[in-house]
Amino acid sequence: MAAGGGLPKLAAMNSQIPCIQDHTLEAANTASLLCSDDIAELLRKYDRSGPRYTSYPPATQFRATGAEDYLDALAQARPEDPVSVYIHIPFCRSPCYYCGCNKIVTRNRDAVRQYLNHLHKEMALLRLQSATYRRPVTQLHLGGGTPTFLDNAELTELVHYTSQYFNLVRADSRDYSIEIDPRTVDRARIELIRGLGFNRLSLGIQDFDPAVQAAINRVQSVEEIRELVGHIRTRGFSSLNFDLIYGLPLQTLESIHHTLAQVIALSPDRISYYNYAHLPERFPAQKAIRTEDLPAPASKLQMLTLIIETLTAAGYRHIGMDHFVKADDSLARAQDEGRLCRNFQGYSISKAQDLIGVGVSSISSVGDVFAQNAVQLDNYYRALDANQLPIEKGVVSSDEDLLRRDIIQQLACYRALDIAKLEAHYHLQFTEHFKDALPALRQFEQDGLLERDGWKRLRVSDRGSLLLRNICMVFDAYLQNPGVVKSLFSRAI
Ligand code: SF4
Repeated sequence: MAAGGGLPKLAAMNSQIPCIQDHTLEAANTASLLCSDDIAELLRKYDRSGPRYTSYPPATQFRATGAEDYLDALAQARPEDPVSVYIHIPFCRSPCYYCGCNKIVTRNRDAVRQYLNHLHKEMALLRLQSATYRRPVTQLHLGGGTPTFLDNAELTELVHYTSQYFNLVRADSRDYSIEIDPRTVDRARIELIRGLGFNRLSLGIQDFDPAVQAAINRVQSVEEIRELVGHIRTRGFSSLNFDLIYGLPLQTLESIHHTLAQVIALSPDRISYYNYAHLPERFPAQKAIRTEDLPAPASKLQMLTLIIETLTAAGYRHIGMDHFVKADDSLARAQDEGRLCRNFQGYSISKAQDLIGVGVSSISSVGDVFAQNAVQLDNYYRALDANQLPIEKGVVSSDEDLLRRDIIQQLACYRALDIAKLEAHYHLQFTEHFKDALPALRQFEQDGLLERDGWKRLRVSDRGSLLLRNICMVFDAYLQNPGVVKSLFSRAI
C-alpha cells in the first residue's frame, strides 16, 4: 500500500552544497531536534535493542526449511514480472574491527575460484528449477564482504555467467550497483566496472579521521578517496553512495564534524550513515575494539543530531533510518511519489516485488516467502555439490506479518501512517487491532516524537526521526522476550 498524503516537510533544501558553518557543531548541543535536557530522558525511555527492519519478520524469525516454499513462490510469478538480484561475495582482504557482515578474511585466491564455481552452479540450478531467468532484472546488487576482492577477470566472468542465467536488461532505468572497498580499486578497475554495465557505486568510507581509522583497522586517506571520486565522476555513473558509521571508537562530535565537511566537499549523491552496533559476543572481530573508546549513548544521540542537521543544511534529504540523498536523487523522487521501499540494501525504489539472493547467506524475498541460503560456506558448498539449492532457513509470512510489514514500511519510508487507509484496506479497526500499542503511541506523542490526528493519521516528527526504529518496534509482534531481543539485536541509540 502506498503512503497517503504528502511528505513531512524537512528543513529547507539548497541546490548548492555550502561549507559547514562554524556554528553547526555548537548547534548540535542546543539543536532544535534535541536539547541536552531531553537526552537523559529519551535515553532512559528508548535506548533499547531492536531490529533495523530491513525485513519483517526480521531474519531472527527464520526457521529451518528446504527450498519448497521458495520454489512454489517463484512459480507464482509471471515471466514479465521484474525481479531484483543480489549476489554475495564473502571475501575480504583484512578485517575491519567494527564489521558485522558475513565475510571470510583470506588472501587465498583458490578460495575465490571454488566460490565462483559454486555461484555458477547455484544460478544453473535456479534456472533448471524455475522460470526466473525470463524475468527482467531491473535491479542487480553485488555486495559482501568485498565484491572488489575479485580481480578483473573474475568480476568479468561473474557478470558473464550472471547474464547467462538471468535476463539482465540494458535500459538506462536499470539500477546495477556494486559495493566498493576503495583500497581495492584504481582508475582501470572503475572503468572495467562501468564497462560491465554497473551504473551505481557504493564506497565504504566509514570515517575520515586517521585515529578512528586506525582504531577500526581501516586506513584510507581522504586524498585517495578524492582521486577515486574524480575517476568515478568521469565515467558517467548515475549515482555514488558513501557508507559512513557513527558511534565508532574515538569518534567525537568534533571528528564527526570534520568527516562531514570532507564528505560534503566530495558531494556523493547518497549517504548511508549507520549507527555502529557493538555486539562482540556475536561478532568476534569487534573484541579488538576497546569498550572505553566507544562514545556513550548520549554522545551518539548528539552525533546523530549533528549529522542530520549538517547534511540537511547541505542540501541532503533525510529519507529515513540512516539514509540521506540529494534533493534531486531518484530515491527522493520515489519518496515523493510513494515508490520507496525498505529492504536488505536499506532503501530502494520499488521496481520489482521479488528479490533473488544468490551466494552464501543471501536472503531471497519472493511473494510471501523469505528464504535464506546456508550461512556457513561448508554447508553452502555441500548442498550445491548434492545438486540442491542451498536454502537453509526461511519463513512464510502470515496475513498478520504482511499487515505489520506494511505499517513498518510506511513509517520507515514516509514517516507517516494513514490509519484510515489502512483500516479500509485491511478491513480492521486500528484502535481495536493494535490496542496494546496505543499507550506507547500516546507516550511518543507526549515526548514530541509523533503527531497524531485522532486515530486517523500518525506522523513522525523531525525529533522522532532520531528514534524511528523505536516507533516501528511498537508494531513488531516478535519483540516479546526482552532477554532474547537484547542478545539478537543492536541498540536503537
Ligand atoms: S567492513 Fe567490509 S571490507 Fe571490512 S571486514 Fe566487513 S565486509 Fe570486509
